[in-house]
Amino acid sequence: MAIASVNPATGRTIKTYDEMTPEQAAAAVAQAHAAWRTWRKTPFGSRAALMKKAAAILRERKDQLAKLMALEMGKPLKQGIAEAEKCAWVCEYYAANAEAQLAPEEVRTDAAKSYVAFEPLGVVLAVMPWNFPLWQVYRFAAPALMAGNAGVLKHASNVPGCALAIEEMFAQAGFPQGAFRTLLIGSRHVQAVIEHPLVRAVTLTGSTPAGESVAAQAGAVVKKTVLELGGSDPYVVLEDADLDAAAETCVASRLINSGQSCIAAKRFIVVERVRAAFTEKFVTRMKARKVGDPLADGTDVGPLARRDLRDGLHEQVRASLDRGAKLLLGGEVPSGDGAYYPPTVLANVTAGMPAYDDELFGPVAAIIAASDEQDAVRIANDTIFGLGAAVFTQDAARGERVARELEAGTTFVNGAVASDPRLPFGGIKKSGYGRELGSFGIREFVNVKTVFVKQAARAVAKPVAE
Ligand code: NAP
Repeated sequence: MAIASVNPATGRTIKTYDEMTPEQAAAAVAQAHAAWRTWRKTPFGSRAALMKKAAAILRERKDQLAKLMALEMGKPLKQGIAEAEKCAWVCEYYAANAEAQLAPEEVRTDAAKSYVAFEPLGVVLAVMPWNFPLWQVYRFAAPALMAGNAGVLKHASNVPGCALAIEEMFAQAGFPQGAFRTLLIGSRHVQAVIEHPLVRAVTLTGSTPAGESVAAQAGAVVKKTVLELGGSDPYVVLEDADLDAAAETCVASRLINSGQSCIAAKRFIVVERVRAAFTEKFVTRMKARKVGDPLADGTDVGPLARRDLRDGLHEQVRASLDRGAKLLLGGEVPSGDGAYYPPTVLANVTAGMPAYDDELFGPVAAIIAASDEQDAVRIANDTIFGLGAAVFTQDAARGERVARELEAGTTFVNGAVASDPRLPFGGIKKSGYGRELGSFGIREFVNVKTVFVKQAARAVAKPVAE
């Protein structure tokens, strides 16, 4: 079967690629394992030099990479450039910090010497989504490779060009041949790769159903998984918030990547006293964002990545309206071949509607009324997900207290949830488990090895009085 790049702005196929056979995928795993046998012994300084080169290549090629993302999945150019730069940052961050983060930790026991060492596991399989085609991969690959692992990537089927570009950039940086391989395979062939004896662990970023399936397959063969899954991030707006600043941040977070971010703001939980005023400011700003060709200057919102995803999102909007939500903006599928969907605002959203219960992966905002702070926290936590959350208030201490009440892996006060190479990132509940980034991320795919050295027999036998 062929894997195709289809431009979501036009519906036209850009290029098709032959899918790898299961034998070719297995050979790529074996090649990655062979590379790992020397890579694992390569000193940190040499690994870091290559990782810095990988960063330099990303910076050099950022315009070309942004264009590739725009063509394959519709990301507006300026956002693609920022994504390539962030990938360079994560490479530089781990080049600078991996050695210290993985330095052996001495533990005082009755041994002559005892310590914990962090050793690479081998080949790690990464199953990745299309929404940040570079960032999702680099935030896995930079720490995994710096820790001395090798990587094989099964990228989303609609971004094969990005997948191959990443493999090529690691090779160009000088990583050992095969240390990072792209497997052009469909999801039905993932299980065989998980079961390959030389694959030691699996990380998946994607939807919750995909995570459940991959984790079950990996569990059956006792392989560790890290899961970065979906979210329905609540943004709580309290009555003492700066409403203009809150509305600005909320709109930016809802529309980042045309609404297709796991940590995009999805549910806006607004305390009744300021609900009308916030809603007006929010809708005005949603309306002002420019929808259009991702390759054009000034575009804020491009097409969604695929037509089927756009149609699924529209179904969620329709079902929410059928169950009593009120349409304040958007909600109509535009004519034409592109997978466009307009910024949309739903009010009067309540439990039992897709806009309340499920993840809306596109530019659709759900406004939910709360009677007070306590009610807002209850609604925010009334979800199967737990990825990010934010709270808006002019009282920083109150914001921090509410942030600690929110069930999420990352909470922000007066700001949009964002990932940062220096801080751990991940979810709880159906948003997954394990962490990427920071010092926690680099320790996910290592053998936490205890080394216990007893006094040598000869030394012990040495006479005490001499
Ligand atoms: P998806 O459909 O789950 O696909 C993600 C990846 O998993 C793709 O490579 C896909 O391959 C593969 N896949 C899907 N089903 C599979 C299965 N049963 N077995 C093995 N592999 C499978 O997700 P998406 O539509 O690309 O991405 C959107 C989702 O990702 C959203 O839910 C979003 O919230 C989540 N996400 C989470 C994070 C995070 O950090 N928590 C970050 C970004 C995105 P094919 O393309 O070949 O189907």
